[in-house]
Amino acid sequence: MTLLVQKFGGTSVGSVERIEQVANRVIESQRAGHQIVVVVSAMSGETNRLLALAKQVDDEPTPRELDVLLSTGEQVTIALLCMAIHKRGFEARSYTGSQVQIVTDDAHTKARIQNIDVERIRTDLNHNRIVVVAGFQGVDGNGNITTLGRGGSDTTAVALAAALQAAECQIYTDVDGVYTTDPRVEPHARRLSHITFEEMLEMASQGSKVLQFRAVEFAGKYDVNLRVLSSFEEGPGTLITYDEEDSMEQPLVSGIAFNRDEAKITLVGIPDTPGMAYKVLGPVGESNIEVDMIIQNVGEDGTTDFTFTVHRNDFKRVLEMMQTLGKELGAQQVTGDDSIVKIALVGVGMRSHAGIASTMFEALAREGINIRMISTSEIKIAIVIDEKYLELAVRTLHAAFGLEQQD
Ligand code: ADP
Ligand code: ASP
Ligand code: MG
Repeated sequence: MTLLVQKFGGTSVGSVERIEQVANRVIESQRAGHQIVVVVSAMSGETNRLLALAKQVDDEPTPRELDVLLSTGEQVTIALLCMAIHKRGFEARSYTGSQVQIVTDDAHTKARIQNIDVERIRTDLNHNRIVVVAGFQGVDGNGNITTLGRGGSDTTAVALAAALQAAECQIYTDVDGVYTTDPRVEPHARRLSHITFEEMLEMASQGSKVLQFRAVEFAGKYDVNLRVLSSFEEGPGTLITYDEEDSMEQPLVSGIAFNRDEAKITLVGIPDTPGMAYKVLGPVGESNIEVDMIIQNVGEDGTTDFTFTVHRNDFKRVLEMMQTLGKELGAQQVTGDDSIVKIALVGVGMRSHAGIASTMFEALAREGINIRMISTSEIKIAIVIDEKYLELAVRTLHAAFGLEQQD
């Protein structure tokens, strides 16, 4: 008997009818002879609704209380799903993260899973029960509720699959697999039958939210067979694999990821002296704010321009921080722009092919799209452009690299 972990995202449990469909689906899997552990998200829109409620009370709610609030979304869906399974005459039990003992560190709102106690789950499975676990949440060493960051139910599912040594971790969502790019932006996007862990990690870190970055990281580390499938229709979905040969349906670029959550800040005309990058970015790091891209111009007349990007949520805070710091450091001006986006070409094929960057830049130039920043790694080229060009740029690049549907 094989054990499967099946995760259903927000849209897939977005209404009572959909929860009933999930119940049918997991019962079917059990009847096919599998042991089933189900992980569910909150109903679609619920986490955002809770976040907005919190903001009405306090613009900067304490992370501990935010976690207590946000974790309630998933508690609703585990209970409703179990009721739907019971109504159909099958046995099921729901568990919150803390009931399972999904133990995390104490980094509220972005906690990392440290340990999972699988004993209770195993007992249930041995009694033929379907086990339903709340995604996105855990408990720290002091019994405080924690959450795992947006999209964190994916990570709950993968971590449970690793702890239970499941045959497969199946991520059921509102698309039928991982596509060459977000099919909502490029309708000609093509489903990939395979993608490597390395590419999926890069896609996720560059903004493709179809899988949470940490879930991919966890699956790669613990050898979990990970698959993305549709909760609404049958199909093979996309398998995340180690095998580079198999995954290469497209030899150069496998996918295009983008991220609308970026903002950039520039310190114009700061002294070009040793230690300046540290003086600028040190305080940002100390405030626990992540910096993504960094560019420093070649110095001229003893001064230089320094630009970096942060998450849009941190933009105001960092801009204010830099306006004060800029004065101290002697910057001529501090500017900011929070209407930019990042687009990244991803593919292991890039390792062995030159000329991808020039094809990319030429295609964008033809459309009159100005590139504001560029950063590259072995399997990725990322650019920052104005937000208004996002759709045009993604579609242009998708066509330029021949990623479209081949029918
Ligand atoms: P869930 O609620 O099931 O976790 P998400 O909204 O988190 O679902 O992720 C699924 C969404 O990810 C899709 O609806 C799609 O718009 C988006 N997406 C972004 N990039 C891709 C991609 N490369 N392939 C498929 N979907 C993608
Ligand atoms: N409900 C959480 C969110 O919206 C976790 C998840 O859906 O994976 O981010
Ligand atoms: Mg998700």
